[in-house]
Amino acid sequence: MMQHNFSAGPCILPKSVFNKASKAVMDLDNSGLSILEISHRSKAFVEIMEKARTLALAHLNLNPNEYTALFLQGGASYQFLMTAYNLLESKAAYLDTGTWSAKAIKEAKLLGEVDVVASSKDKNYNYIPKSFTVPSDANYLHITSNNTIFGTQIKDFPQVDAPVVCDMSSDIFSRAIDFSYFDLIYAGAQKNMGPAGATLVVVKNDILGKVSRAIPSMLDYQTMISKDSMFNTPPVFSVYVSMLTLEWLKQEGGVSAIEKKNKEKADLIYTEIDRNPLFEGFAVKEDRSAMNATFTLKDEALKSKFDEMAKQANLNGINGHRSVGGYRASMYNALPLESVQVLVDVMKELERTA
Ligand SMILES: *Cc1c(COP(=O)(O)O)cnc(C)c1O
Repeated sequence: MMQHNFSAGPCILPKSVFNKASKAVMDLDNSGLSILEISHRSKAFVEIMEKARTLALAHLNLNPNEYTALFLQGGASYQFLMTAYNLLESKAAYLDTGTWSAKAIKEAKLLGEVDVVASSKDKNYNYIPKSFTVPSDANYLHITSNNTIFGTQIKDFPQVDAPVVCDMSSDIFSRAIDFSYFDLIYAGAQKNMGPAGATLVVVKNDILGKVSRAIPSMLDYQTMISKDSMFNTPPVFSVYVSMLTLEWLKQEGGVSAIEKKNKEKADLIYTEIDRNPLFEGFAVKEDRSAMNATFTLKDEALKSKFDEMAKQANLNGINGHRSVGGYRASMYNALPLESVQVLVDVMKELERTA
């Protein structure tokens, strides 16, 4: 049975990737061995890792002499601490745009002074703060490009002198921007790149080595870089499937081509949210995310009817996060436009029969 998977994460991946990945579980490239049983030091896996790292930088259009791509463990949440450990000497600036930003702030506070330059908490994070100043002595500015839970996305990145660190977990590889604007990007694989278990970190080499604290090996980007992202056993399967997804993205025409498709999907759902008198968008219009559309029913009494209709139509994973309520349609790269059309049809049908 075909499901329309709107899950916020772990999320939908391309069918062709699932096919290749399941074959590799039985037999990796006719080697007679499973991807799950080969050594991470084998030639086959070293090639997979190198391909994944190369593709990641290529999709972001970043110079491999300036930036390094790493596949680490611990999720994006581990990066909340790791970024601060490696970059926070005295003071760092953080933009508070949601639950994940707030968690990053909490970790950074363990290591130095944190200046929260602006926050949208006053309106339950339904917008992106636009005017704020970053102190001139900040070691870096930390931002979250897409707020998965609240459905907001930064469209214009602030011009700042400080290095910019970005949690891009839920919109990496979804739109073409000048990625050289960022000095460090991190993203848990499970939102738009692969299965849970790997975290992509893309770091500009020259921002490292500037803090005075001793950094434990597992928390040190320089350790990971010097060992080609294989200081210890990497998450082999997750790296493999991420590599397959990055190959798929290349076949699809890369980030600019997928951005067009993502925009079509977002336009389709937001047009319906604004047109249909039964629904209301959560995020303010100018900050709406092309990845996660958040919306509510104006009349809660219609909830059980709408939920039942959604279930009948095989719409999966559209419940909103508990801190927002309502609904959230996550439309990551692999979600086809047809799935969004089915959701929109159900919304129209509710209007017709309510
Ligand atoms: C999901 C998510 C996280 C947390 O990722 P984990 O890999 O579970 O630690 C952090 N930031 C953003 C923006 C997310 O969407």
